[in-house]
Amino acid sequence: MSPLTETLLYGGFVGALPLWEYFLIGYVRGQVLVMSVSLYFHRATTHRSIEIHPVLAVLMHFSCWCAQTSKKKQWEPTHIKHHRFTDDDGDPHSPKHHSLWSMLLAIPYRKVAKDPDTIQSYGRNTPEDWFERNLFAKYPRLGILVLAIGLVSVFGLVPGGLLWLFEVSYIPITAMVGVNGIGHLWGYRNADTDDNSRNVLPIDFLTFGELLHNNHHADPASAKMSHKWWEFDPGWGFIVLSGWVSALIRLVTRSKTFELIRVIRVYRPPKLVRSAADLEVGAIHAFERYVLQIRHRFQTKVQPVLEHLKVQGTKEHPLQAEFDELCKRARSPLALKTILRDWIERARSINNEKLRDFCDWLIMIRVPAPQT
Ligand SMILES: [Zn+2]
Ligand SMILES: [Zn+2]
Repeated sequence: MSPLTETLLYGGFVGALPLWEYFLIGYVRGQVLVMSVSLYFHRATTHRSIEIHPVLAVLMHFSCWCAQTSKKKQWEPTHIKHHRFTDDDGDPHSPKHHSLWSMLLAIPYRKVAKDPDTIQSYGRNTPEDWFERNLFAKYPRLGILVLAIGLVSVFGLVPGGLLWLFEVSYIPITAMVGVNGIGHLWGYRNADTDDNSRNVLPIDFLTFGELLHNNHHADPASAKMSHKWWEFDPGWGFIVLSGWVSALIRLVTRSKTFELIRVIRVYRPPKLVRSAADLEVGAIHAFERYVLQIRHRFQTKVQPVLEHLKVQGTKEHPLQAEFDELCKRARSPLALKTILRDWIERARSINNEKLRDFCDWLIMIRVPAPQT
């Protein structure tokens, strides 16, 4: 084999490396990719539990664009729909309805992600920026080509090609099969959510904390996915680390406001109760607070809209009376969440922005954990 062919096949710009270095590079690149999906797509743009500095956000979006062809405008609505119908009819990806093989090939995901009704109904709040409009969403398939050219140039055709293959398969294996499949099949539960979500701690480091999935379904708006002291969420670790980096940058630049990642909402464990009487009081208090919060928001945001929409001559819009009735009827947060499903569907179909915002909020609001 001529030296030129050898360089083309195995050398690239950096020359041939020991085998372990390729493994290390692959592992680090996989972690950067899954971190970008977890922090940027999931915790920041979908659940709004953190805000990422625009420069870091574009780098993370670039990383997602290079390794997968899913657009942010598809990822977010599909995921909100998953929270809305978790493990029920209408869930875009649940092992109850789809095989792990079809999830690996992203068949159910693609079907929903390309459905215009889903995108329109659940994706109208997805934030956009210049890069999104002019590069990432405009040329969604260019990313994997850029990644291939970059890796082959740096490492040569064979190692670069294998690293490329590893990177583009990382999300289908760890997120599609791992989080969406195994995270709803096997593992332990901290919270008694009305779905089949599970925590799979032994392999959660591969998904940057996303496999603390039952914790996430119990409190979707929290930036922190670990709920017990012995659970480790690398994503939360990175957020803490970014706080230290931000403090250092503030010190050096004398800036007062610089923040690499701003945490908006974080998990607070429910208070422990000691006796059966405490248990009852504690549970009722948590539930009352939950219902009051929902009704207050309904009265301030939705009632004026329904007043406007009611048929002339009638006392109130049917959705209003029904909402009050459902809130009175439910005896637990989970029961309320379940009986509100039908109401949410009908409120969504009215096609009013404030009503839909309220429905999105209802889907995402944390259900208080049962007191233990
Ligand atoms: Zn899930
Ligand atoms: Zn989520």
